[in-house]
Amino acid sequence: MTDWDLDDYRREAELFLEEINREYYLHLAGHKPDLAVEAIYERHESLFERDAVDRIGEARRAATGDDEVRLRHLHQFAVDGHLGAETRELEARLADLEASLEIEVNGETIPYRTAPVAQANEPDSERRSEIEAARNAVLVEQLNPLHLEGLERAHATCAELGWPSYLDAYSDLRALDIRALAGRLERFAEATGAGYGPTVDPELERTVGLPLAELRRSDLARFFRASHLDELFPSDRMVTALGETLAGLGIDLERQSNVLLDTESRPTKSPRAFCSTPRVPGEVYLVMPPIGGREDYAALFHEAGHAEHYGCTDAELAFEFRHLGDNSVTESFAFLLEGLTASPEWLERILGAEGAGAAIEHARAARLVMLRRYSAKIAYEVELHCPGADLGTMPERYSELLGERIGVPWPRETWLADVDSGFYVACYLRAWALEVDWRRELVGRFGERWFSRREAGDWLRGLWAEGQRLDADRLLAETAGGSLGFDRLASELIAV
Ligand SMILES: [Zn+2]
Repeated sequence: MTDWDLDDYRREAELFLEEINREYYLHLAGHKPDLAVEAIYERHESLFERDAVDRIGEARRAATGDDEVRLRHLHQFAVDGHLGAETRELEARLADLEASLEIEVNGETIPYRTAPVAQANEPDSERRSEIEAARNAVLVEQLNPLHLEGLERAHATCAELGWPSYLDAYSDLRALDIRALAGRLERFAEATGAGYGPTVDPELERTVGLPLAELRRSDLARFFRASHLDELFPSDRMVTALGETLAGLGIDLERQSNVLLDTESRPTKSPRAFCSTPRVPGEVYLVMPPIGGREDYAALFHEAGHAEHYGCTDAELAFEFRHLGDNSVTESFAFLLEGLTASPEWLERILGAEGAGAAIEHARAARLVMLRRYSAKIAYEVELHCPGADLGTMPERYSELLGERIGVPWPRETWLADVDSGFYVACYLRAWALEVDWRRELVGRFGERWFSRREAGDWLRGLWAEGQRLDADRLLAETAGGSLGFDRLASELIAV
């Protein structure tokens, strides 16, 4: 782009996302064995050059109101891409290594990437611990040097772009006081501290046969897996259950021409459900795995929440409000649909499940562990990315913070691999809080069985039409009222 123009930039950014998202869809859905993203990045490399980042930053500083918000989202798109370009070669080396490495456990060889699955399916606690130790050893020796180089490069790039730190960069780009958010989550951890053990102990006993006080981190995957619940979620009912749920909200999934269902089985198809959005709202893929079980139901409904949010977004909105913006919003709708698979009314009505209580108790305990884990993650990531952070002390801080909030001795080895880029951790946390508000509003307006009321669907479609024009706080304030907080979430997660 020689004659630099903001609208040209927006058009090219939209084209880039269309190409890249379609390529990921084709690869992950098993239509195409290779993932040819390199040529797409090369074709659009000017989007992520320093010059583009600076020009958008300048335009943003001169703008006000909605224009400033649009330009802020565009600024984040450019900075994310610029950091990605700086570390792309490292990421590719990491991906190749992860795909080729193997671990040895008592003479048995397991591919590095499938080790967490082997761990979740392993009934013997001792062996789970051995798998994790072997995996962590490979991580430290082979992968952490690359992770560390990537982190240092990202920090240096933020400094070159003029921010005091990575934390400052993303607090600015997200217009969010991330440090204050971490403080609010610290209070959430305090509020749930006393009830934590009593809430999770029965579920830990049921799934791994140990209470919190005797648990190791390697047992957690088994706890989340909860294989005793799989029979409540039959594989052959998964697709129809989603279809029926959406029909209850007035959505005919089969006839929705812009939300394309991909249910076919292919040898290299991703085993997890996912949503891909080449064009919003015109071309949204919802890709379903051929299997079932509780976790697959949850993942499918989560992705369906994204697909419907993007699929119902108003086509007239600006590019930034359809494709970019505060992802706490789209994640909140993903959690809303995912949450149905652990609600008594849904389990009874859609799956005809008896004894749904077990699924509900497990889901609550699992969410509490997850929330406390993320409350520790955001505290840790603030320390890791703040000005003048001493990286030498970070493995220990990681282990302390995570271990303390989860109540389990926590290994240091994953101090780099367990970090989401761009403080995405903040989006998940805000989305969990927002989901509680959407659910309360839906129950208040339409009753416990809101998911089978067309009017509830109309109300949701009204929210979805907004895309991500408004951030989570403003969308909540303008539609349901009130402000985003973690108190309601804390009280619903503690067993009484
Ligand atoms: Zn999601």
